[in-house]
This record gives sequence, C-alpha cells and structure tokens, in this order.
Amino acid sequence: MKPIYLDNNATTQVDPLVLEEMLPYFSELYANPSSMHTFGGQVGGKLRQARSRVAALLGCAPDEVVFTACGTESDNTAIRSALTVRPDRRRIVTTKVEHPAILGLVEHLKKTEGYDVVLLPVDGEGNLDLAAYKAALTPDTAIVSVMWANNETGVVFPIPELSAIARERGILFHTDAVQAVGKIPMKLSETAVDMLSLSGHKLHASKGVGALYVRKGTPFAPLLIGGHQERGMRSGTENTPGLIGLGKACELAQTHMAEENSRVRALRDRLEQGLLAAVPNSKLNGAKEPRLPNTSNISFKFVEGEAILLRLDQLGICASSGSACSSGSLEPSHVLRAMGVPFTFAHGSIRFSLSRTTTDAEIDLVLTELPKIIDTLRKISPFNEQNAMEEEKPACGC
Ligand SMILES: *Cc1c(COP(=O)(O)O)cnc(C)c1O
Repeated sequence: MKPIYLDNNATTQVDPLVLEEMLPYFSELYANPSSMHTFGGQVGGKLRQARSRVAALLGCAPDEVVFTACGTESDNTAIRSALTVRPDRRRIVTTKVEHPAILGLVEHLKKTEGYDVVLLPVDGEGNLDLAAYKAALTPDTAIVSVMWANNETGVVFPIPELSAIARERGILFHTDAVQAVGKIPMKLSETAVDMLSLSGHKLHASKGVGALYVRKGTPFAPLLIGGHQERGMRSGTENTPGLIGLGKACELAQTHMAEENSRVRALRDRLEQGLLAAVPNSKLNGAKEPRLPNTSNISFKFVEGEAILLRLDQLGICASSGSACSSGSLEPSHVLRAMGVPFTFAHGSIRFSLSRTTTDAEIDLVLTELPKIIDTLRKISPFNEQNAMEEEKPACGC
C-alpha cells in the first residue's frame, strides 16, 4: 500500500525527473569530474551546470556554492569555520529552536571547548525578540546562526533583517535554510547572509547531498581537508549523481515554486481549518505569518502524540510528533517547550508536512479519520477535563 506521506519535513520523495537526471551518472557516465580526460570533463561540465542551478535558486553566484554531503555537514562546516577564522572570539549566538544539527554541535562546543553559547528564546508564536537578538551580539561574538524556517512549526525568521544587523556589527551570519530552500523565494545577493546550509533530500533530491553557500570574500576554513575539490573548501570526490540530482531539484523548485506554493498552502489550510473545527481543544502552533506553506503543527489536548501517530500509521498515514519517548520519560519537543506550549497540549502535538506530491484525497482522508482517532483516544485517556487543569507536568506511561 502506498503511504499517505505527510512527513515531508523529515524527507521527501526523489522527483522522477531528478532520478532520470541522476541515473546516467551511476552507470555510463562514471568518470571523476576532476579528471583531465574528455570523459571526466563530461561529468565535470554537468556538475558545473548543477552548481549554476543551485546558485540560481539561491540568487547567488555559482562559485559561492560549496557541495557537501548533507545539511548537517553544511551546518558543522559553517560554525566551525567561523570559530577558526575568528580565533579571538568566544561567543556563538543561536536560538533555542534550531535543528539538532546546530543545537547538538553548539552544546558540544560549549562542553568540550568552553564556548559561550547564547540560545535566544522565542515567544508563544515562535518568533524572536529583536531587542534580545541585538543585545546578544557582543564584540566577542564569532558567529550568529539562525534558521530561516523552523522544521517543526514552519515559522519563518526575518533572515534579511537579522543578517543586516549582524553585518553592521562585523559578525559573521549563518542560516540553516534546509527547510526554506525551495519553499520560499530568496535572493542571497541582496541579503547580508555570509553562509547558508541546504540539504538535497528535503527538496526532492536524494539523501546524502547538500550545499553550503559561502559569500564571496567570507573568511573560510574547511572542515574536510585533502584534495582540491570544491576549490579546497570541501575535499573528497563529489557525489556526482546525487549533486546532479540536486541541481535538477533546484531547477524544478524554482520553476514550480509559485504555483506549487499556492496549491500546497491551500491543501495545508484546508487540513488545518478542518481539524481545528472538528476537534475541540486543539490548537495551531506557530500560526502567524510568515510561515512555510507546507507545514502545520497542531496540538490536541489530553492525548499523547505517539498514540495518535500509531493510529494514523495503522491507516497508512505518515506524520510526526516533535516528542521522542526516550529513557522512560516523554519529553515534548524542544521547539514547543521554547514557545511555552503547555505540557497538556505539547504532548499531543502532530506535525503534518505536505509537498508537491500531496493530493486532495489524502487530505480528505486525514480530515475524516483523525477526529475519530482523537475522540477515541480521549475516551481512554488517563487525563480528563477535571484533572488535566492541575496536570501541567509530564506523565508518561511508556
Ligand atoms: C533535515 C534538517 C537538517 C539536517 O539535514 P541532513 O541533510 O539530514 O543532515 C538540518 N536542519 C534542518 C532545519 C533540517 O530540517
């Protein structure tokens, strides 16, 4: 049975046109793109085209695009590079709602190397406080890293504005734009962003490819050192089929963004409004504009997200919850906690993330089935309207 896949912020299906573009580079066109022979040049030329296609989507120059193996690598490269080129500075400024690719790294740098890590808070809508942001940017700050769009809620941060503020203060600015690239238009040449991370598998290319935008003139220190690939900025023979696919995926995203965004947004809004209307005690997290057109994060009070996911899964519906049942305690998502979503809501949170593969019929099915699921779960829930008011602490039976 084909799944009803509403988990596109976790990964996306490789577009058939992307796959078609990749296939020859697994088989007959296998040469090393750095080789001097004509055969190598053929692959090298196609890789150059891929770089131009990525650059076109980002609104930057092709030689500002460094190919990597994933979003996580791009994030790690950007942060570590800034710390290397600014050895006299000890502060890293980021937010409480970043992806683990950033949060895990900065926590590690704090613990192992003693960096002064500032995690900026967000308000109930998931937005940053501009005054707090400015106050955190001290002369000791080596790098600011703020995601362009949040993977759990779809909340979009004002990156052009935030990057301009960092530049005024002479601080390098990085953005994890893994969820934003291909979903919102951007023109990096008109921003003050110094570095930007993207990942192929979040925009219908394959897993294991990514890129790091590095603005021309930005001081840079590579993470991987070895050969000359990527002009010495990222050594290692390129994943040619994957990167050629990434180029195609960027071209498709650019061509179809406007029309797909409005189609996907309409589906998402219908899903959201339908669920909020059909299910009492439900709440949308991060509802304010601007937000991604494909993402909806909804909390259903008095139920466990895991229980909802399990029942959706039995119907072939794939979604996700921010919480993870680990070491016997059910911790709600760090993003929802940072937004101050009460535990009774945060525990029952589901993220639906749509894509250009999502259909009307799929949304209809969720709208028919999910209210029934919530109703059933609430009937068997250990919480109820009476005791839940005092139950503002996690209670987990897993
Ligand atoms: C998925 C994701 C990443 C990690 O990308 P990988 O290519 O899986 O390493 C980083 N940041 C955000 C916001 C993401 O959604």
